[in-house]
Amino acid sequence: MTRSGAAHWSRRVLILGGTGEARELAAALVARGIPAISSLAGRVSSPRLPVGEVRVGGFGGAAGLAEYLRSERIFAVVDATHPFAARITANAVIATQATTPPPDRPSLGEILHDHGGVGFLVLRRPGWQARAGDRWVRVADMSSAAAHLSHYPAGARVLLTTGRQETAAFAALPQRFWLRAVEAPDGPLPERCDIILDRGPFTLDAERELLRHMDVLVTKNSGGPMTAAKLTAARERGIEVVMVERPPLPGGIPVVQQVTEAVDWLDERLGA
Ligand code: NAP
Repeated sequence: MTRSGAAHWSRRVLILGGTGEARELAAALVARGIPAISSLAGRVSSPRLPVGEVRVGGFGGAAGLAEYLRSERIFAVVDATHPFAARITANAVIATQATTPPPDRPSLGEILHDHGGVGFLVLRRPGWQARAGDRWVRVADMSSAAAHLSHYPAGARVLLTTGRQETAAFAALPQRFWLRAVEAPDGPLPERCDIILDRGPFTLDAERELLRHMDVLVTKNSGGPMTAAKLTAARERGIEVVMVERPPLPGGIPVVQQVTEAVDWLDERLGA
């Protein structure tokens, strides 16, 4: 590898993606000439692709990700995955701590992250906050959300927007469900369950129309504007929202909420 080639490789950034913020970050880095690879899990058959280099599929746990960081000579990882994608975040913490940064780049001391491995930053959009008029019941996980629905009669109509991967908690419930997801679920479903295949952003008018036929909404606290209109529609109708709160982030890692802050963090470390 030439000297200039080594410098190029040492600036490589891995974006763990699958979100709008990850796509925005990829576009910002490409525009700045920073070599970035976006990684997608491969869950969705026709994903919205970020600009620039993209890889698809799991790494094979923390050890596989650490090996990938070494072999691809990754300088820093930005975890811009969905707030509920807790496993890949945990793996990324372990993998970046276990991986020594590429040795052939300048000012190594400055760019080592506090925990001594490859630089690691979490980019996580803020969660939704309840507003006046909201009727939110905050729960910690899907089984608590399902337990709360036992307060509703069997005839109640439930809009479930918690994704296609976590339907099992609701499978034994008697209520009438509408499950909205990007792709068809493969897990167990409630006996009475219609599938709405759709992908945001959703307009307020469309959400008003959908929620007109519902008694309760179950959602993850994903945050962001793309799927927030359902909360406004629920508030307007005065219906309860069972809000599944986010899993906690691992401690001791830097977290930013905005794409611009992630770019600044990288700029600082790259000496741009
Ligand atoms: P997860 O439970 O945290 O991860 C499960 C496994 O999927 C990981 O161990 C990893 O496999 C692989 N994986 C996850 N994200 C990856 C990525 N960006 N690149 C490569 N491999 C990845 O994640 P999840 O909740 O299934 O979400 C999967 C993807 O969908 C994430 O990228 C996330 O941003 C996106 N997404 C998730 C949600 C949600 O509600 N969970 C909503 C919208 C979008 P290995 O162990 O083999 O590396």
